[in-house]
Amino acid sequence: MGRVSGKIALITGGASGLGRADALALAREGARVVITDVSEEAGRALAKDIDGEFVRHDVRSEDDWHKAIAHTLARFGKLDILVNNAGIVVPGDIETATLEQYRLLNAIHAEGSFLGCKYGIEAMKANPGSTGSIINISSLSAIRGFPGVITYAAAKGAILAMTTTIAAHFREKGYAMRCNAILPGMINTPLLAAVGADTLPGLGQPDDIANTVLFLASDESRHVSGAHIVVDNASSIIGGGA
Ligand code: NDP
Repeated sequence: MGRVSGKIALITGGASGLGRADALALAREGARVVITDVSEEAGRALAKDIDGEFVRHDVRSEDDWHKAIAHTLARFGKLDILVNNAGIVVPGDIETATLEQYRLLNAIHAEGSFLGCKYGIEAMKANPGSTGSIINISSLSAIRGFPGVITYAAAKGAILAMTTTIAAHFREKGYAMRCNAILPGMINTPLLAAVGADTLPGLGQPDDIANTVLFLASDESRHVSGAHIVVDNASSIIGGGA
């Protein structure tokens, strides 16, 4: 039996980088996976490879969230695992970043994760006794000062606060569902290449995050909720580099 056999997962931004690695790992361990992304060609190809589903989905759109969840329920009947992963990075420090950039990053990361949690929980609750697991992809930048990505860091900080609050809500309500955040250090993906950081020494690989997602998605982590898990090979405690 796989570690997530019989579970149904939805991964946003699943066509590339970390989301792609998550999709491959969850499918390998027995989950059925719905990949959602704005990137259609790569998303459809991956869904085909893992016998999953693809939905074109911009996480900023409430309508798209309704469609993605409705597709998941129509195709697989339930939702067990939600990975709020879609994202972009825009360089800029507090002096150079614009309000427009701030709003864009907030819309994708913070609002996108908020909508995902809100409608994901609704779908999980429809399955009585659900042990659903929400995994929010934050970033080391939420807790460590990276001056050059102010809008990104602020939006990732909102994701951490949301995760803590939702985990407390589950506990207070007596739900068996869990909500956790992962804070990756620098991981070698197209996102890092976009800011020219893909040649730094000591980068992590997408599977380093996918293995953490797999643990949080599985029942092995049934007593883990509200956690902020840093995956950075100690870079945040020694300082510098990736
Ligand atoms: P990638 O760029 O490889 O993948 C992100 C995916 O999300 C892409 O397919 C992208 O499409 C898609 N996407 C972008 N905007 C939206 C949107 N509005 N709605 C739906 N999908 C969207 O990046 P990573 O895999 O590196 O990043 C995944 C997550 O991990 C992000 O949240 C990122 O912030 C986080 N992270 C990454 C780190 C790293 O070092 N790589 C470190 C810390 C956190 P398109 O390519 O068309 O834009």
